[in-house]
Amino acid sequence: MLEGRVDLHCHTTKSDGTFTPTELVGEAARRGLAAVAITDHDCVDGIGEALEAVEENCVDVVPGVEISTDVSDGEIHILGFFIDYEDEDLLKFLEAQRESRVRRVERMLRKLAALGIDLSMEDVLEHAGDGAVGRPHIAAAMVKAGYVLSWDEAFAHYIGLHAPAYESRSKLTPYEAIEAVLAAKGVPVLAHPGLSGKDDMIPSLVEHGLEGIEAIYPQHTSGQQEHYQRIAREYGLLVTAGSDCHGPYSQSGVVLGSATTDYEVVLRLYERARRTQAMICEKRT
Ligand SMILES: [Zn+2]
Ligand SMILES: [Zn+2]
Repeated sequence: MLEGRVDLHCHTTKSDGTFTPTELVGEAARRGLAAVAITDHDCVDGIGEALEAVEENCVDVVPGVEISTDVSDGEIHILGFFIDYEDEDLLKFLEAQRESRVRRVERMLRKLAALGIDLSMEDVLEHAGDGAVGRPHIAAAMVKAGYVLSWDEAFAHYIGLHAPAYESRSKLTPYEAIEAVLAAKGVPVLAHPGLSGKDDMIPSLVEHGLEGIEAIYPQHTSGQQEHYQRIAREYGLLVTAGSDCHGPYSQSGVVLGSATTDYEVVLRLYERARRTQAMICEKRT
């Protein structure tokens, strides 16, 4: 399919989504999408399954990933499109990211225990499925055990930034994430810039190889969408669109296909990925 609408930011059960990769592709077909990108957090395990579901559903799948990185007072998320999801260095890099998440949860559980909140790693992992474990899963375990009434309460009083049981992750810079995506022959794109609020870093991200910006995003106002499209024009970046759908029953409740763009963008991402691949081959010969 070479035309239609595409949603380039979706999570599955391989990270913190609730659709399996197969269900996600099926849902995209039901919603009349021409393509979806699988962009699980620090994980590419869902891509193979999603690609297998392509034929039956007549929806294209863009192999992708979303890498969380740390900046002062917040996070920047880098999407990588058309990455070589079997690249060994990429797999090792993502494994190290997931490992650091587990260590962080362990440190937070120790802090919570000191505050009288007794949860085991198993209690938390129960909510993480086979995805990347993180604070949402600690919050879910706290709610289930009756320590708090809601996720919001867990974040506000215990595990949010500046709360007593908060621990930062071992730091990964957005530049390192861009480098990892490029090394895996992918196209690095800044996810939901309006949520990160780090516009001042965009020029240096571009210098390090950023190639696109997710200007079209459900939580961006129309003013923000225009603002980031303007920035894209200024720096020659591709404009991508993604719902950041985490599936039904997810906390955000965002529906698949609620932010889309033209299929043309998939073709342009593919072209750029091919160009990166050619450059890497040239360097190696
Ligand atoms: Zn994100
Ligand atoms: Zn996301």
